Amino acid sequence: MMRYISTRGNYQSVTASQAIKLGMVPRGGLFVPETIPEIDIHDLNNAVRPDGKLSYHELAYRILKLYLGDYSEAELREFIANAYSPERFPVEQVAPLKGLDDRTAVLELWHGPTAAFKDMALQIMPWLLTAAMKKQHSGKEVVILVATSGDTGKAALEGFRDVPGTRVIVFYPKNGVSHVQEMQMITTEGKNTYAVGVNGNFDDCQTMVKQIFADPEMNRRLNDAGFEFSSANSINWGRLVPQIIYYFWAYLSMVDQKKVFIGDPVNFAVPTGNFGNILAGYYAFRMGLPVNRFICASNKNKVLTDFIDTGIYNRKRMFYRTISPSMDILISSNLERFLFEVTRHNPRKIVRWYEDLHQKGKFEVDDSTRQLIANHFTGGFATEEDTLAEIRRVYEEYGYLIDTHTAVGLCVNERYRLATGDETPCVVDSTASPYKFNLAVYSALEKNNRVTDEFEVMRLLHDKTGVPVHRAVDHLQDKKTHRYDPIEISNGPDMIFNLLGIDK
Ligand SMILES: *Cc1c(COP(=O)(O)O)cnc(C)c1O
Repeated sequence: MMRYISTRGNYQSVTASQAIKLGMVPRGGLFVPETIPEIDIHDLNNAVRPDGKLSYHELAYRILKLYLGDYSEAELREFIANAYSPERFPVEQVAPLKGLDDRTAVLELWHGPTAAFKDMALQIMPWLLTAAMKKQHSGKEVVILVATSGDTGKAALEGFRDVPGTRVIVFYPKNGVSHVQEMQMITTEGKNTYAVGVNGNFDDCQTMVKQIFADPEMNRRLNDAGFEFSSANSINWGRLVPQIIYYFWAYLSMVDQKKVFIGDPVNFAVPTGNFGNILAGYYAFRMGLPVNRFICASNKNKVLTDFIDTGIYNRKRMFYRTISPSMDILISSNLERFLFEVTRHNPRKIVRWYEDLHQKGKFEVDDSTRQLIANHFTGGFATEEDTLAEIRRVYEEYGYLIDTHTAVGLCVNERYRLATGDETPCVVDSTASPYKFNLAVYSALEKNNRVTDEFEVMRLLHDKTGVPVHRAVDHLQDKKTHRYDPIEISNGPDMIFNLLGIDK
């Protein structure tokens, strides 16, 4: 049975359900699978067409069972059927692949309940986590702490809404998310869910949450009160593993649409922040998916572009608030897992680099590691102007409306292709509905726009393009809101005690 080990070599190996319940390694570090299972793409292609047609559910089962050894077939099939039901993903296929031209296709990952790709994992993760709690006979209520750059928050609030035995506390940067993103979070209706603004940026929120997880005193007091912590961020393996599915899905859809012959490679371009999405793609590649190159696309916060170019990861730099706020991140947590895989499991190197990051704000990998990364990854970034121009270009050339994050991915991919002449067919991950980021998207199409009210602009965008408004954001302005006063980073623990009703 597949077991999970720590990237820092500081914990015993655990089962899948233990890794999911813990969220991250209690002494710091992230859980990764001890070995990467291999799959033959031809066999897989034959196995996932129960009625002759490619099935997301069957594919999901074939992938998840390889990683989640202590979950039964009945459990996995039930969770998959619930999570990826037609009610939750009301499109013909869970993640439709739309061809733009003969070599570029867009994978729409935002048809779930909250209009961002986070739903692809956070619709199934509550099932995995609550089953894990039962398997571990925890008997405690699980408190899921979430740091969000905007989209994980709402997806977690929605995924865990009224799930018995769980509470969800989301911390978001008060001034670092779009108006629609904030409205989505503070209109959440669950009895067990809380969304709290923080005076700080996403990195501050994430660092705060990680510190709370690793604080023995905090954990003891929560335990005494009948709670225990877990995470719904992509530091939790339960968030990452469902994302592997759609890389295989995208590939087999490319085959079905005759954009590649089975076995031939494709490229993937991924708008990247915390490195969770693209890392899932890398696991798919290591499992045997034919991938030529990953294009890691950033906005102006281009710490990853520089890292891939130079081997130096330096978070000490200007932090920019951009029109693609879900990628406004300077500490990409899942890079740690990636480096552990690239170094073929060398915890000594990981400990040294992350010690450096902690103390000096930067680290530098050795030449051979840098070379190994360069073999499969190209980095690139789009400025704000590039992003707006790309939205306009894609709309004018193809009549296809994209959000700001997807625009970053497409822009960087196009630039890569022109610079290298690499004509490998490419899948670009589309990570959010354009209606989550109305103001920027509409201004890209209407340069003289003066309207600033998000919901008014949403209507204008719909009138102009005819693209249906995503149900996640339609009529959001009429919903009841629940706001907490924004907190300072240092008040995180007190806020948690307050919300859980624990005496200080
Ligand atoms: C979270 C998010 C990203 C970044 O994904 P990572 O897994 O953090 O790299 C990109 N686009 C959107 C819309 C997102 O919500």
